[in-house]
Amino acid sequence: MLDIALKVLNIIEENGYEAYIVGGFVRDYLMKRKSNDIDIATNATPKQLMELFPNASTTNTFYGAVSIYYNAIKFEITTYRVEQDYQDMRHPNTVIYATNLADDIKRRDFTINAICIDKNGKIHDLVNGYEDIKKRKIRTIGDATVSFSKDVLRILRAVRFATTLDFSLTFEVEEAIRQTKYLLTNLSLERKKEELNKIFSSNNLQKGLDLLRDLGLDKELGLQRLSFVKNIKQVIGIWTVLEVDDLYPFTRNELQLMKEIRLAIKDNPLCSKTVYKYDLYVCSVALEIMGLGNKYLMDIYENMPIHKRSDIVIDSYDIINSLKIEEGPDLSTIWERIEEAILNKEVENNKKELLLFIKNVYSKLKERENETTTID
Ligand code: ATP
Ligand code: MG
Repeated sequence: MLDIALKVLNIIEENGYEAYIVGGFVRDYLMKRKSNDIDIATNATPKQLMELFPNASTTNTFYGAVSIYYNAIKFEITTYRVEQDYQDMRHPNTVIYATNLADDIKRRDFTINAICIDKNGKIHDLVNGYEDIKKRKIRTIGDATVSFSKDVLRILRAVRFATTLDFSLTFEVEEAIRQTKYLLTNLSLERKKEELNKIFSSNNLQKGLDLLRDLGLDKELGLQRLSFVKNIKQVIGIWTVLEVDDLYPFTRNELQLMKEIRLAIKDNPLCSKTVYKYDLYVCSVALEIMGLGNKYLMDIYENMPIHKRSDIVIDSYDIINSLKIEEGPDLSTIWERIEEAILNKEVENNKKELLLFIKNVYSKLKERENETTTID
């Protein structure tokens, strides 16, 4: 990956600009960790970059940056800039460009994120970031309280990096978080959720949860139920336990999933009827939340004669034709009985047996209806 990144730097430099790899890639490279994408800082403006890379897109999350794909690797190329106040607005319409790398480094969040690599592969470490990588420390560039007051998202980024890299926060960073955490109310719930998702999906989840609690961020973030989250690998499972459906922005799909996971917990996720109703995934998350492994879930799943309605060999037309009924509540009841009986292995999933079975079910249904009308 580094060789391809150096090629991109050289393309920019050959055109008379400066460019350095910076941020997560350098940090991960020094820690021998895998990176997904590469950040580049340059004195070329987005317009100039668009000329160098005609396929570059500016449909980016923040202004003054372009992203390109080069050899299938994603590069985020950002023009040198100075620190801006993000407090009221995370996405400013204007960016104040800086003329040199040193100024651009000063506006970055943590020392470990500000180490650069030049076009020859040489490391430039203006803020002693490598020392902090070796000490496994998250330290802000400049005064921590000032840094967090300028951009409160950095608080969550600090917790995120401490979690994913298994680093500790410097004393100064911890203190500054305690002093500035009230500013988190200014940060949009979308951004909070995005950063929390990164913490929640870490293999080192428990550390993230402990940090959020120890620093009192759980209250600031409206996550009062954080202590109920234990050993949950599925992020949606964590949100299910947190019960913040009405507070954080969730997609319709996520809301539905959380609802079903809760219902599956109530119903017993190790029962074939529950697995059939909500599916394997929902039940596996439900079991994880209950602190139970899903060792038996696969056995149950594999032993189920059907997993969804379309596995059943008859369809609604067969039922309507055979019983001479119309669509309506009777049809729904009959379907429910069929599913239940197949899952309970009272009847086989075979057309002849099922047609016989539904005749029986239907006549009992009618008998019962008659009884109730007589009593009435
Ligand atoms: P990841 O591994 O998630 O990509 P990253 O450190 O590369 O981690 P990005 O969000 O890609 O993080 O940002 C790239 C770089 O931009 C960071 O390393 C940091 O130098 C700088 N940066 C990003 N967000 C901020 C911020 N809120 N405040 C200051 N600097 C930031
Ligand atoms: Mg990055």
